Amino acid sequence: MTKKSIYGLTFEQLTNWLIENGQKRFRAEQVWDWLYKKRIRQFADMKNVNKETISLLEENFVVETLDEEIKQVSKDGTVKFLFKLQDGNLIETVLMRFNYGLSVCVTTQVGCNIGCTFCASGLLRKSRDLDSGEIVEQIMKVQKHLDEQGKDERVSHIVVMGIGEPFDNFTNLLNFIHVVNDEKGLKIGQRHITVSTSGLAHKIYEFADTGLQVNLAISLHAPNNELRTRIMKINKAFPIEKLMKAVDYYLENSNRRITYEYIMLKDVNDHKEEALQLAKLLRSKRHLSYVNLIPYNSVEEHGQYQRSETSVIQEFHEVLKKNGINSGVRWENGADIDAACGQLRSKQIKKQKIV
Ligand code: SAH
Ligand code: SF4
Repeated sequence: MTKKSIYGLTFEQLTNWLIENGQKRFRAEQVWDWLYKKRIRQFADMKNVNKETISLLEENFVVETLDEEIKQVSKDGTVKFLFKLQDGNLIETVLMRFNYGLSVCVTTQVGCNIGCTFCASGLLRKSRDLDSGEIVEQIMKVQKHLDEQGKDERVSHIVVMGIGEPFDNFTNLLNFIHVVNDEKGLKIGQRHITVSTSGLAHKIYEFADTGLQVNLAISLHAPNNELRTRIMKINKAFPIEKLMKAVDYYLENSNRRITYEYIMLKDVNDHKEEALQLAKLLRSKRHLSYVNLIPYNSVEEHGQYQRSETSVIQEFHEVLKKNGINSGVRWENGADIDAACGQLRSKQIKKQKIV
C-alpha cells in the first residue's frame, strides 16, 4: 500500500497520532516546524528529532508524494506546474504574481464530474478525490520552488480554483484549510483563501456553519435558469432559486462578501439583457456581492464557445456598475502557458494517448 503524505494531518491530528504511538507531545511541534518552517523533503533531515520518532514516521507516512512533470514559466511571472500523483494521475497547480502577493491555485480532484460545457477539466470525469495531503503538498511544492529562487518569497494567498469541485471533496478541503492556516505552520490567513464552487447549495450551508472566514466564490455564469442549465448541468440539481437561498443563509451567518464568477461567452451570456438580469438578481444583496467578469479562455474541444469582444465585456461591466453592482474584469494571468482551468493537464493527457 502506498503511504500517505504527512501534510494531510492537521497539527491536532499529528499530535494525537504521535501520542497514540507512544511519542511525547512536544515531538509534534518539532515535526511541524521541520515540515512547514524549514521545509525538509524527507523525515531523516529532521536533525533534533530522535531516531525512534523518525523511523515511526517513515514507516507510516511520506513527506512528498507529488512528482514535478512540467514547470512552465510565463512572461508575466506565472508558473504552471503539472504534478504526477503516486498513482500516475496528473494534476495542475498555478503560481500567480499580483501586487498584493503570491497566490497559488490548487486542484482538489482528478478530473471533475460537474461537466460544465465550457471547461477543460470537465472533459475528463473525476477518477478520484485528492486527499488533503495532496492538496497541501501543492502549496509546499510551490513554496519550495520559491525557496530555491532564494528571494525569501512566501505564498500569501490561495485560490481553490484548479481542477475539480472543492465542495464535492468537502472534508479534505476543510483539513487542507486548517493545515495551511495554522499559526505554527504556513500561517496563510483565512481571508487570503478563496474557495470557488459551481454552486452545490447544500454544501454552501455546511460551509457557512463551519464559521471559517475563508472567501467564497460562486461560478454563476448566467443570470437565469434556462441559460445556466444550458451551460452548466449542475443547475438542474441546484437551480438559481435554491442557490440564492443558500447564499442568503451564508450571508446571514458570515456577513462576508461573495464573489460571483461570470465567464464572458460570446453571444451566449454577454448581452445587455443578461447584465440587467444579473444586476436584478443581486440587487438585494449588492453590499455583499462582487461580480468577477472572466474573459473566456478558449478550449479546443469546446469550439462552440468563444471569448466575448473586449468592448462587449466593458459594456457588460458598465451596465453592472450603473446598476449598483460591484464588479471587475479579470484580465488573465499566464495566458501563454495554458493557465485556464485544466488546460495543461488535458493537453498532456492527449499527448500521452498519442504516444
Ligand atoms: N469547480 C469549481 C472551481 C474550479 S473552476 C468551480 O467551477 O467554481 C474555477 C473557475 O474557472 C470557475 O469559475 C470556472 O467556471 C472557470 N473556468 C473554467 N473553464 C474556464 C475557461 N476555459 N476559461 C475561463 N474560465 C474558466
Ligand atoms: Fe468542474 Fe468547475 Fe470545470 Fe465546472 S468549471 S467542470 S465545476 S472544474
